[in-house]
Amino acid sequence: MIEGPLMDRMNVVGDLFGAGKMFLPQVVKSARVMKKAVAHLIPFIEEEKEGSGDTRAKGKILMATVKGDVHDIGKNIVGVVLQCNNYDVVDLGVMVPAETILEEAKKHKVDIIGLSGLITPSLDEMCYVAAEMQRQGFDIPLLIGGATTSKVHTAVKIAPNYENPAIYVTDASRAVGVASALLSDTGKEEYVKEIADDYKQMAEKHAAGRKDTVVFPIEKARANKVPVDWQGYEPPKPEFLGLKVFEGYDLGELVSRIDWTPFFRTWDLAGAYPAILEDKVVGETATSLFNDAQAMLQRIVGEGWFKPRGVIGFWPANAVGDDIELYTDDSRSTVKATVHTLRQQMERKGANARPNFALADYIAPKDTGLADYFGGFAVTTGDEVEQRAKEFEKDHDDYSSIMVKAMGDRLAEAFAERMHERVRKEFWGFEPDEDLSNEDLVSEKYRGIRPAPGYPACPDHTEKRTLFDILEAEANTGLELTESFAMFPAAAVSGYYFAHPDAAYFGVGRIHKDQVEDYAKRKGMELSVVERWLQPNLAY
Ligand code: SAH
Repeated sequence: MIEGPLMDRMNVVGDLFGAGKMFLPQVVKSARVMKKAVAHLIPFIEEEKEGSGDTRAKGKILMATVKGDVHDIGKNIVGVVLQCNNYDVVDLGVMVPAETILEEAKKHKVDIIGLSGLITPSLDEMCYVAAEMQRQGFDIPLLIGGATTSKVHTAVKIAPNYENPAIYVTDASRAVGVASALLSDTGKEEYVKEIADDYKQMAEKHAAGRKDTVVFPIEKARANKVPVDWQGYEPPKPEFLGLKVFEGYDLGELVSRIDWTPFFRTWDLAGAYPAILEDKVVGETATSLFNDAQAMLQRIVGEGWFKPRGVIGFWPANAVGDDIELYTDDSRSTVKATVHTLRQQMERKGANARPNFALADYIAPKDTGLADYFGGFAVTTGDEVEQRAKEFEKDHDDYSSIMVKAMGDRLAEAFAERMHERVRKEFWGFEPDEDLSNEDLVSEKYRGIRPAPGYPACPDHTEKRTLFDILEAEANTGLELTESFAMFPAAAVSGYYFAHPDAAYFGVGRIHKDQVEDYAKRKGMELSVVERWLQPNLAY
């Protein structure tokens, strides 16, 4: 590890960040200066190391995105922040199996393991890593982070698998505090006990709350489905049936459809765009970050860095119970595929008297005799994003590497937005005259929805397999699904299209065993397998 004035200066950066006087983009940008300088200085530092005595870092931390998961922007940011604070970081990248994580942890004699994950199946994988650490007799702390993780999940599901600390880290600004507390000779015990007590309490409260969850039997929930008035409804017919493939989609067209608010969130800057640029506290940082993004965007578009690929499809469809049957053609005699949906089962009565939603409710039931349709899409900015990021990393430029990934994500989302807009206006054509600003698009002021498997209205990630099959997504976009049904490369979006004006997003929430048993039967899957995928939604 590095000693001397350069590292001292980085420690100042780390301290200012810790004290809330400096923001993440500035930290990561400063780290770039340090890393580039260090790259030049390495030979000299090595020499100095020989001569001087103590060159130890504060500690060594292994970081990995778990098996089946692909997102790493958050993990990479935490890694940079830790390095700025004089920790050694061993970054194993994405899709890392538990076995590799533990082998590498032993090999590098790390002091802490940090796991990251974006999608819900990763929660289960993290429990497995914790259980394996226990089995193999590890005694180092485990840190948990990433979009899908939470303090509750860490307390209730992960921590009980491991006798040593398993601690949830909210965001990059907390990582250093947690690491230093865990590696401190004096404060560690007290800190660990405090967390353990807090988590234990949380787990007990959670268990009590879960017992109180009242659910409707599935039949009762079905009787309370969304009351769509099918009489007099004329389902719009898409301009084509089957697939339409887009290769090398015009990047310039996507720029105006970028939703910038999540971009700032990626960099831990809270606030909505464009107001954030004027914000009293973070405005200056946000503006500088935005300018850097614009500069890179100009190169991405001008030099054609990414090659967006996408596919959309429409099929004749009808609802049969909670399933959506897709037919090979308009004769509707042959089922091409079945999309299985889940229904809300929370008790709905009194002030809470609303329907028990399921996505199937937005498709005309077969017995209405209506010729309804269903759509799907998968879009990506391609693996060129990752390649660019790697090039920046080779050049010790984490700031640009993270930036290019963030822009890959933004443009993939913009691609999904633009495609959905074109679907409404041209390809399905039920809103030919729609003319909405980007602000209106971001706040979904249009007819229809594009729910994504893995999200609250359709939390079963395994349904993405069906979507990818009917879209022939692998062949048409180059995307792949991991064993956890994450899309790879990461800069990708997929989902369903529903045209009905009543269609709205909701969360399925907790469901009961009667529905899960029925769902497993409909999908032709083992109950225990379905239960594993739906773990976060089970009310039992
Ligand atoms: N503008 C955002 C992307 C849209 S987020 C960005 O650039 O990052 C909203 C998207 O998430 C929706 O279009 C839908 O695909 C998905 N989504 C949101 N809520 C959902 C829900 N309850 N169920 C399923 N999908 C949902």
